[in-house]
Amino acid sequence: MKTFLYLTGCLCLFLKLSSAHLVFDMSHDFSNATHNWPDATKIKIIPSVAGYAIPDLPEDDENNFWIEVTDIVGEVHLGTHLDAPVHFAKGEWTVDQIPPERFFGPVSIVDLRHKVKDNADYEITVNDLAEWEIVNRRKFDPLIVLWTGWGSRWADRSRYMGTQSDTDASNLHHFPGLSRDGAEWLAKHGGIHGVGIDTASLDYGQSKDFMAHRTLLKNRIFIMEYLNTDGLESFPLVNPYLIVTPLKITGGSGSPVRALLLSQLPDDSTSKASRVLIPSRVTEAGIASPSNFVPMTMNGRPMFYPISQQPDRSLFLDCQRMLRIQQLLG
Ligand SMILES: [Zn+2]
Repeated sequence: MKTFLYLTGCLCLFLKLSSAHLVFDMSHDFSNATHNWPDATKIKIIPSVAGYAIPDLPEDDENNFWIEVTDIVGEVHLGTHLDAPVHFAKGEWTVDQIPPERFFGPVSIVDLRHKVKDNADYEITVNDLAEWEIVNRRKFDPLIVLWTGWGSRWADRSRYMGTQSDTDASNLHHFPGLSRDGAEWLAKHGGIHGVGIDTASLDYGQSKDFMAHRTLLKNRIFIMEYLNTDGLESFPLVNPYLIVTPLKITGGSGSPVRALLLSQLPDDSTSKASRVLIPSRVTEAGIASPSNFVPMTMNGRPMFYPISQQPDRSLFLDCQRMLRIQQLLG
């Protein structure tokens, strides 16, 4: 159970939120079972001390007490974590140098599940990203989560990584990721602090050049990976707000994080509207960019018409549906 009612009032951070909101934990368990990347130092959680302080005394003696200490070993880029710019950009910010005010804020959740479900090698396009801004009639928030649905595959390494082995070369990896063009579009977008994904890497599994990493990180946009989205479909996304908390590791290339997604308590009409997707025939026509539409009227009815397309009745109908969606959201 990932959601619970969280009452505010003690945390001034949430002043803009309502007096009560819901929390979704976007973190996978950080454990010895965390999926490894080839050649990475595996996560090991080691209980180095666990016992009563004075073995010769009875456990319930008032002078005895329990003591437990845990050691951790492993690469910082495993499990739900954050990549600092220096990870792929020499001389750039290490994790302790990222301004902390970038670790929380409104978040745009981009639902891509229907696009990637039949293609584990899918690369998220510029159009996929632009659609979110059309449907929501606004620019992306400072934080973005790319929701592929892979977070629900976590329990099955073969389905999550594309291979059962955790030592084979990464050419066996199959999971969706952000395309180079998509990363360049986000880098030029402005105002974006961090981009997350619910797979093992922002670049798709078959990537050899890691252009999505290189492009975002050199522009000081941090990356969040291995986010947990299992069950997110039943979580309301009303003014969603994300908090990620990397450790302040001196000179660190990244850090494990606790990623918490907050939602205001749902009002039925708002939560339904936030889940409406743009009609697929409009997106398949490759016209999903706000600048490609012009408002017009036809037979006295308002609609949006794609500038570059020849009149097509099916597209007219879909654009009318899109207008209704926008009115609902507006
Ligand atoms: Zn990474």
